[in-house]
Formats: sequence, structure tokens, C-alpha cells
Amino acid sequence: MQFPQALETVLQNLERMRDENSRRPCASRTVLDALKQISSPRKIEIMEGDALSSPKNNLDAEPPSRDYGAASSVAPPKTEKTGKLAAVRTRVCACIKCPNLASSRTQTVFGVGNPDAEIMFVGEAPGADEDKQGEPFVGRAGQLLTKIIKAMGFPREEVYIANVLKCRPDVPAGSFGNRPPTPREMQTCRPYLMEQIDIIRPKVIVALGAVAVEGLLGTRAPMRELRGRWDSFNGTPLMITYHPAYLLRNQSPSEKRKVWEDMMLVLERLAKPISEKQRNYFL
Ligand code: SF4
Repeated sequence: MQFPQALETVLQNLERMRDENSRRPCASRTVLDALKQISSPRKIEIMEGDALSSPKNNLDAEPPSRDYGAASSVAPPKTEKTGKLAAVRTRVCACIKCPNLASSRTQTVFGVGNPDAEIMFVGEAPGADEDKQGEPFVGRAGQLLTKIIKAMGFPREEVYIANVLKCRPDVPAGSFGNRPPTPREMQTCRPYLMEQIDIIRPKVIVALGAVAVEGLLGTRAPMRELRGRWDSFNGTPLMITYHPAYLLRNQSPSEKRKVWEDMMLVLERLAKPISEKQRNYFL
């Protein structure tokens, strides 16, 4: 078993024992000291790499500063971000914190795109297509999202796309369609999204739909009240707009135009030039 999975298994068992309140977990002083030393993701990566030959030196190393925000002009190099994302992905792949989802999923759906992306799109959860292919937003709604991204002037690979939940919410056998994630499922999976955002450090986050907003901000409100204005997620500007699936259900040109106007606000925020053609665009 790889180190991250082993650590994840230990953490999951501890959490389950806490939730079930069955018995107090016991660990020796030596084990506790060792766990404390490896609690940062940076140290875990070091251990996965060259640490096994000289663990003490690496365990003693200081983790790098994670303050890549406005106060710091030094962003981590892309290769470092790629490695960090890969380490989180490995833990997500092995995650069984939601036993029902872990047993019903085909695979986890981590996220896709440029680790250096300026824009990060966040949806709610994988659907059937995403569960099958292992990539977020690949079904009909995903195709519409790709069209929106291209109309903004970006190739899909240039942005980052993820969901609040990394597993498809289970549905009764034989039934079609998707169900929204429960608040508990979102709360359980949210730390992975937080790690992704922390690593990528996008300039703007776009929340797609009310469920994504609830997952990110813990806020529940009608989308007509939420969309089209700037919010903030831990200091990163957050634009809230409709989920592409809503536009597929509601083909009204005025609703599509609202999404496009939200995306123009994103382009303005990023100081990207907006052509006349883009200004007059309708999805
Ligand atoms: S939804 Fe998230 S927390 Fe739950 S099992 Fe999947 S990866 Fe783990």
C-alpha cells in the first residue's frame, strides 16, 4: 500500500471511531510523535520521494510557506503544483469516507486542467458520464461548459475544472438521472476541494449552481439572488453563475445571456480584452 493510502486509511478509521463513539483510539507515544511529524502534505510528498533512505533528515525539514496569496508574489512552480495535486488525487482515489458512494462509484472524479489556471470552475458532483469517464463535466452540461470556456477565449485545458464531491452520488439500482449531494457528503469531501484550490491558487473561482455555492460557502439561497455578483472564497474572488445543466433545461435566451454576462465580469476581473463580438455573444 502506498504511503498516502495508508495514512488515509488510518485517518478514516480514527474518524469512524470518533463518529461511532465506540471506543477511544489508542496509540503509543512514539506513533503519535511520528504522526505529528508527517501531518503536512509537503512532508508526505518528501517521504514518497527520496525520504525512505534518510527519513530523519526529511521529517525534520520545514514545510514550505503555503502563503501564495496577494501578500506573496512568489507562486510555486507548475511542476510542484502538479506533484501536490497528484498526491491529493492518490488519497482521493483510495477514499472511502462515504462508504455508500465508495461502493457505488465506478471511479473517483478528481479534477482536470491546468495546475496554473487563472480560472477554476467548481460544480457539484460527477454524473453518470463523469463517473464512467473519470473526468468532470464531460456529459451534455460539460459540453456546454466547454463551449462557454472557449467563447471566453480559453482552451478547456487552460482552466481547471472540479466538483465539490469527487464521487457520483448513488441512486437506487435501475433508476436514471442524478441526485444532488447531501450536506454531509459535501462536508466530508470538501477538504479535498480546499486542497485543490490551495494548490492551484486561481485568480478567480466560478461556482456553477446553487449546490456548488453551498459546498463552497455553506450558503443556501435561490440562484437569482446569488448569481452575477462577486463573492469571496477565502480571499479569492468568487463569481456565482447558473450550472450549465440549468441552461439545458431552460433554453430561454435571457437566462443564457445572464451566464454570459457573468463570464464577461470574470474576463474583466482578469483584465482580459473583450471583443465586440464577445460583448454581443449569446450562448
Ligand atoms: S465523496 Fe469524497 S469524501 Fe466521499 S468517498 Fe468520495 S472522495 Fe471520499
